[in-house]
Amino acid sequence: MYQFATAQELLAICTREAIGIDEITVRAEMEASGRERDYIWSKMEEQYKVMLESIKKGLASDIRSLGGLIGGNAYKLQQHTQKNCVSGQTVTKAASYALAVTEVNASMGKIIAAPTGGASGTLPGVIAAFAEDRNIPFEMAIKALLVGGAIGKIIASQATLSGAEGGCQAECGSAAAMAAAAVVYLAGGTAEMSVNAAAMALKGLLGLVCDPVAGLVEVPCSKRNAIGAAHAMICADMALAGITSFIPFDEVVEAMSRVGRMMSPDLRETARGGCAATATAQSYVLKLNNLKTDQ
Ligand code: SF4
Repeated sequence: MYQFATAQELLAICTREAIGIDEITVRAEMEASGRERDYIWSKMEEQYKVMLESIKKGLASDIRSLGGLIGGNAYKLQQHTQKNCVSGQTVTKAASYALAVTEVNASMGKIIAAPTGGASGTLPGVIAAFAEDRNIPFEMAIKALLVGGAIGKIIASQATLSGAEGGCQAECGSAAAMAAAAVVYLAGGTAEMSVNAAAMALKGLLGLVCDPVAGLVEVPCSKRNAIGAAHAMICADMALAGITSFIPFDEVVEAMSRVGRMMSPDLRETARGGCAATATAQSYVLKLNNLKTDQ
């Protein structure tokens, strides 16, 4: 009764039941899992707390990734946020939080895949920064997470959330779509606005390739999460301003799936194309290999 696999179905349930996306996601989960509302709610709370903890940890100045390619960038951006930053306080804060989570991920710390480890920074970054700056209660942030979750669920059921299958559009693109929908909710937008923001966010990152340098989820992954956060917030503002996506969300998801299938395997997590194939990336790989031989 509350199950949905497309945005069209989701919005139809919103209209039929006169409830929001967050509530539909809870009811769909209760139906599918047979669990009580309290159980689902407490799991969501638990996950959001882990997200907040990973932001806190990642903002440390001395954090270093396993491959040594990233670390300390979240701290630098957070420091910059307190100055006169170009993109404004909340956007820059969201980007610094997104960097923080990915730096924790790359240092093998605990994060929540949202929707994946590589793309784990954007959604919590946007929700936490916006909630903090607008004094939004914890409960609302959990509901925003549910809104983002609904978008992720649709993409997972109609396409893919895996970079190896669909390129980075499927990971960072999906994360940006989830974050855009979530922050529209936090800003008081309608379900339709959330879906429009998600469509614009995913559409804007269509074709993004998966090209991790040396196969490590560090470069370009971490900064893409920060960029995804800013991208999501602009898409949210467009939707809140009444701008709609010419291509409906479900068709954008279909397009993303088709683009993913058309992508060369070199551009799908094999570290053979894109940034991974650049001279700098290759010389880093050589250095890594020499280090291994020396040991
Ligand atoms: S480049 Fe690949 S590994 Fe890195 S975040 Fe994007 S999809 Fe994930």
